[in-house]
Amino acid sequence: MTRESVIVNDTAMNSIQVVTGDITRLAMDAIVNAANASLLGGGGVDGAIHRAGGPAILEACRTIRQTLYPDGLPSGEAVVTTGGQLPARLVIHTAGPIYHADPDPAGHLAQCYRRCLELAHAHGVKRLAFPGISTGVYGFPKAEAARIAVLTIRTFFAQNPEAGLSVTLVAFSTADAQLLQQACT
Ligand code: ADP
Repeated sequence: MTRESVIVNDTAMNSIQVVTGDITRLAMDAIVNAANASLLGGGGVDGAIHRAGGPAILEACRTIRQTLYPDGLPSGEAVVTTGGQLPARLVIHTAGPIYHADPDPAGHLAQCYRRCLELAHAHGVKRLAFPGISTGVYGFPKAEAARIAVLTIRTFFAQNPEAGLSVTLVAFSTADAQLLQQACT
């Protein structure tokens, strides 16, 4: 069950909200997948999205590997696929930085959010949901990741006031939701 907690930032056209719940259940235009370089599935939110969305997503990811990114998706990059059987129309897959191995984890995390927002905008997405990219197995400290997410989204809003994007930050626990809300204030 997804619970809406608060709407914390609004410009005339763009907004951020924080919710707690399972991102695969959200009827968005697009949801973001915290994928890995292989694009071929994994654990955490990646596994949940592939399970809920069915084989069409994996098939599209395989095609992307064979064409655009034969060596894997670099940290900070993002690609779009169908949402398959998900309530969301599209999935935007991004490879977050591995905190203790990436040469520039903060820069690459910001780049993930920025690339996803750019792709969403280019695909006419109005309702977009993000999980906490890199804050699970990839070990990015959650409070810092939340600040980077909010700052990057607000910067995108300032640069694209006409985008009309409603961005939902999805926390998987109430503790994570609090960190996101703090980052928004
Ligand atoms: P990464 O490898 O990028 O760290 P993870 O999937 O391990 O990705 O975790 C990213 C974040 O997604 C974590 O904060 C985790 O709690 C959260 N998460 C896991 N499953 C879901 C889900 N179904 N919906 C929303 N968030 C989820």
